[in-house]
Amino acid sequence: MKQLYQGKAKIVYEKSPQEVVIHFTDGATAGNGAKKATIEGKGVLNSRISNLLFEYLGENGVVTHFIKQLNDRDTLCRKVTIIPLEVIVRNIASGSIVRRLGIEKGTVFDQPTVEFSYKNDDLGDPLLNDDHAVALKIATREELDHIKREALKINDLLKSRFYSIAMTLVDFKLEFGKDDEGVIRLADEISPDNCRLWNNENISFDKDLFREDSGDLIEGYEAVYHLLEETS
Ligand code: 5GP
Repeated sequence: MKQLYQGKAKIVYEKSPQEVVIHFTDGATAGNGAKKATIEGKGVLNSRISNLLFEYLGENGVVTHFIKQLNDRDTLCRKVTIIPLEVIVRNIASGSIVRRLGIEKGTVFDQPTVEFSYKNDDLGDPLLNDDHAVALKIATREELDHIKREALKINDLLKSRFYSIAMTLVDFKLEFGKDDEGVIRLADEISPDNCRLWNNENISFDKDLFREDSGDLIEGYEAVYHLLEETS
């Protein structure tokens, strides 16, 4: 199959004009590539977790790229052109918002916040607002409104799914893409690589384990996978 894209933790192959195979690798990066590692088994766990969550979201009316899991590392997906926005939803302050706005880590927001970053490694994925996204022709205002509504719906669904396994969804990053009929679909992955998940003692079960060297990443991801799988 023709390789379409090689990312930090995934390779995308063209399966047919309308389908791609997403292959999850064991690559791990943090700080826009400043910290790099290979963590054996991470790709399998992320692939399984992401597939469970995409199936769950699809069953609950979210339009996604997911078609089916092919094996432990490969997932068949509808081909989309990624909209170069990182759509970040936050329920609790952690990570960059703490540094940027001086909010105390752990502050629970009355309402979730949605923010956009421009998906551009050379620029370090800078924050951008709706006017910037429209000016750069990344998306129309109507598309941005649709993406925000979808992101909030996904947040409600994921929050309750993680609540059912006694985890708190602190924040997460989504990416959306457009298929060849112009339909906007949730794409990329949803896994502890792009979510922050805390247990009831505020211990992380996500990529902060790697970012902050605070524990064993595989143990954390395995716990998330087993809890989700047992309750599926
Ligand atoms: P922050 O802006 O606090 O660094 O990240 C907010 C949330 O979005 C976190 O759950 C983080 O994992 C996710 N996120 C932000 N940027 C990226 C990125 O470039 N790659 C991945 N995998 N996740 C990201």
